[in-house]
Amino acid sequence: PTVIAVLNQKGGSGKTTIATNLAHALKRDSYRVLLIDSDPQGSARDWNEASSGNIIPVVGLDRETLAKDLQAISQGYDWIVIDGAPQIAKLSAAAVKVADLVLIPVQPSPYDIWACADLVDIIAARREVTDGKPKAAFVISRAIKNTKLSGEINQALKDYGLPVLKASTTQRVVYPTTAAEGLTVFSDPSSDAAREINALKKEVLEVLK
Ligand code: ADP
Ligand code: MG
Repeated sequence: PTVIAVLNQKGGSGKTTIATNLAHALKRDSYRVLLIDSDPQGSARDWNEASSGNIIPVVGLDRETLAKDLQAISQGYDWIVIDGAPQIAKLSAAAVKVADLVLIPVQPSPYDIWACADLVDIIAARREVTDGKPKAAFVISRAIKNTKLSGEINQALKDYGLPVLKASTTQRVVYPTTAAEGLTVFSDPSSDAAREINALKKEVLEVLK
């Protein structure tokens, strides 16, 4: 399977929101998708239980043995989406190791962007020993509708040397309200929120080509 790790050591950056919604978008394309919850807080597991596991299978793997544990259970899936853990650098490093693509959700604020430095270092270190694997990109999370990113924000992201996806999520109440029921924005597949997640999925597929 292809492994997408949604990582950022900052809590509240949008990891679980993007991981659950992106996983569902892939499943709607008839792919077999497994969501790995690497956060010891278990948000993705809680999400899954809220809908009695009706959308995507979720497995908790929140130890540094992630790579080995994942190998044992990933057979039969087309995609593995890893919902990242906050703070724990060793878990992020373990996820970077198994990832084909690291998505870094980041809110368009300087504090959030500065907080990515450690993760970007972990990715760079991994790339040095693997000839450039994994791919990695920022995804703007919770953007305010109809506002352009400021030049400063764009520049700060560019300074990390990783691309910023064109797709983003905007601030919408439908993200927390659907999550509370263990669902995703595809509860209404024709909504603007569903459209932005589909755009994200499409861009992810292109990046991985
Ligand atoms: P993380 O997993 O990185 O800690 P979450 O995905 O849990 O971040 O998001 C943090 C909070 O922000 C949650 O309450 C979530 O529902 C909310 N949130 C995330 N993305 C959006 C969005 N695009 N619009 C509105 N609320 C959002
Ligand atoms: Mg989370």
